[in-house]
Amino acid sequence: MAHFPASDGRPPWRALVLTLFPEMFPGPLGVSLLGQAHEAGLWSLETLQIRDFGLGRHRQVDDTPAGGGAGMVLRADVLGPALDHARTKSPDSPLIYLSPRGAPLTQAVARDLALGPGVTLLAGRFEGIDQRVIDEKGLREISIGDYVLAGGELPAMVLIEACVRLIPGVLGASESLASESFETGLLEYPQYTKPREWQGRSIPDILLSGDHKKIEEWRRRQAEDLTAARRPDLMGPTPRRK
Ligand code: SAM
Repeated sequence: MAHFPASDGRPPWRALVLTLFPEMFPGPLGVSLLGQAHEAGLWSLETLQIRDFGLGRHRQVDDTPAGGGAGMVLRADVLGPALDHARTKSPDSPLIYLSPRGAPLTQAVARDLALGPGVTLLAGRFEGIDQRVIDEKGLREISIGDYVLAGGELPAMVLIEACVRLIPGVLGASESLASESFETGLLEYPQYTKPREWQGRSIPDILLSGDHKKIEEWRRRQAEDLTAARRPDLMGPTPRRK
């Protein structure tokens, strides 16, 4: 079991998720480092069942799209009260709607959110949610990628995991964050471990040389080459290498 430094007096980072499927949580967020950090009180997770705010005997939450078309849309007069209730629980957290139309979730966005008090996340379903809720409540829309999932629960988990691992004390070795992909503006260099030889493939000699300056240079060069080959968009307009 990893040991976590005592919290520095700050309240735990708080994730509140509005969902029709609270039983999906904590799911993967409850295991390994995140699960341990949760137990250690570094972050908290709560779900709010949207259906509790549903209308009538059947607790209806959705209806057909205005103007026609396939599928159903989550109603504004259900989500509005649900979000108002969430506000009373987490007054200071940004309100975020997970949406394929949103701004991309990046490491910079996660870092920024991890610095705050937490997040209140609305997980959509069906064809999405009534636009008036987004406008009225000032929801920030965030996407986890250019593809469409069935619901916002997995995107909410992705966002939470990306943030929570950045909270001080959650990861064991702080330097493991410093060199990670995107933290330096580059993809990470290749990693190796024992055995020294595997199926005719060797660990590059430089990594076994003990020359830390040369190792650092090699890793930097590898990170630059990988990034230029796979994600030139991350390199910026001017080449980094001198
Ligand atoms: N009709 C919507 C569209 O074309 O943009 C897609 C709705 S999707 C089937 C249902 C819900 O899944 C959305 O309301 C959103 O909460 C979530 N979702 C799906 N893909 C997502 C993504 N890439 N990023 C964030 N949330 C996503």
